[in-house]
Amino acid sequence: MYKNKYHMPSNRPNNGRNRKFNNRRPSRGPKKDYINPQRFIKAAVVREQADEYVPTNSFADFDVNPRLAQKIEQRGFESPSPIQDQIIPHGLEGRDVIGIANTGTGKTMAFAIPVLNHLMANPKAKAIIMAPTRELADQILEECKTLLSNSGLYWALLIGGAPMGTQLRDLNRRPNLVIGTPGRIKDHLERGSLQLHNFTMVVLDEVDRMLDMGFIDDMRDILKCIPAINRQSYFFSATIDPRVRNLITEYSKDPVSISVKTGDTAELVEQDVVHYSHPNDKVSKLQDILISDKDNKVLIFDETRRDVDKLNRSLRELGFKADLIHGGKTQGQRKRALDNFKRNKINIMVATDVAARGIDVDGVTHVINYSTPQSFSDYVHRIGRAGRAGRTGYAFTFIEKR
Ligand code: ADP
Repeated sequence: MYKNKYHMPSNRPNNGRNRKFNNRRPSRGPKKDYINPQRFIKAAVVREQADEYVPTNSFADFDVNPRLAQKIEQRGFESPSPIQDQIIPHGLEGRDVIGIANTGTGKTMAFAIPVLNHLMANPKAKAIIMAPTRELADQILEECKTLLSNSGLYWALLIGGAPMGTQLRDLNRRPNLVIGTPGRIKDHLERGSLQLHNFTMVVLDEVDRMLDMGFIDDMRDILKCIPAINRQSYFFSATIDPRVRNLITEYSKDPVSISVKTGDTAELVEQDVVHYSHPNDKVSKLQDILISDKDNKVLIFDETRRDVDKLNRSLRELGFKADLIHGGKTQGQRKRALDNFKRNKINIMVATDVAARGIDVDGVTHVINYSTPQSFSDYVHRIGRAGRAGRTGYAFTFIEKR
């Protein structure tokens, strides 16, 4: 059935026949770095148990508002993760903090606990949290809500692709907590619907990804609106390169730096390539991987929105429980697809790079690069999603045979 779908008529010039090299720039889609396919093949490293971290604090040790302490207890985590254990005490003291950590390390609670504690103790205080993607901003809000219920605090979620009306209404209530993506936050500053002169806490999550996505000017414009005096800043980044360092140096004051990076999460991923010679062959090889393991949870990357739409349609026609996420979908559609993936109602998510950034989904077993990533750092970021929490994951990269 899928054969015809992938059979390209010969009177169309740029439909794969001419793409001899796996990552030569296609006629559409982004420019790509050349990556030697050998770099997509690597055995997973088996972690030693000796890596186990012993926290210095328990959640009960943190000196927070009793109502917040109760919510933390109800959240049910046994003990603080390394980044939480090390950052929360400094955050509670009011220090500026730099957290160097991969995704999935528990960063959200590491900043949410001290920030929300401050907001609960000072009803006039205000905090802003910036994240690179709508999904990540939404996930941060969801995590904060578990600690905020019945606190009397207001929040606003300012993300692109979501209705302005709701955001304007939420802003009218003078929220204590604003969470959003830099582009939409900047829009509100320009419209005058958001003022930041009375904000004293700022969190930048995944600074490196925000810079990769070209948000530097928006971020600076936003940070400039928050008075430096009395400002407490948190910066989180998986990498500290000169761009990240410059931004932090400019906007922080005597920061304490905590690194919990234990090496690449990609180390935990068994990596291999899948050779294909024709688009029909490509989809049947994908099918082989998808049916090889019944309990798999698979994130598939493809290049453009159209590619993602088409692949998702084909997988559904083949009977797979798949959905998709890309920038052309509404926020509601993206959220629904992500929730279904999280709750295992579907086990395959087809995505573009941008839409998949910042997604935190537990238990992804396989990452499939149905088309090669733009750069090696994108590759590492993609496949790191499969090796979470010490489990071995699998990453397959499709390469066209010459
Ligand atoms: P990050 O922001 O570093 O990507 P998150 O804060 O989203 O990571 O946390 C990743 C996952 O771990 C989430 O599902 C979260 O609920 C869970 N988590 C956070 N803190 C703890 C903890 N102390 N113990 C166990 N699980 C935790």
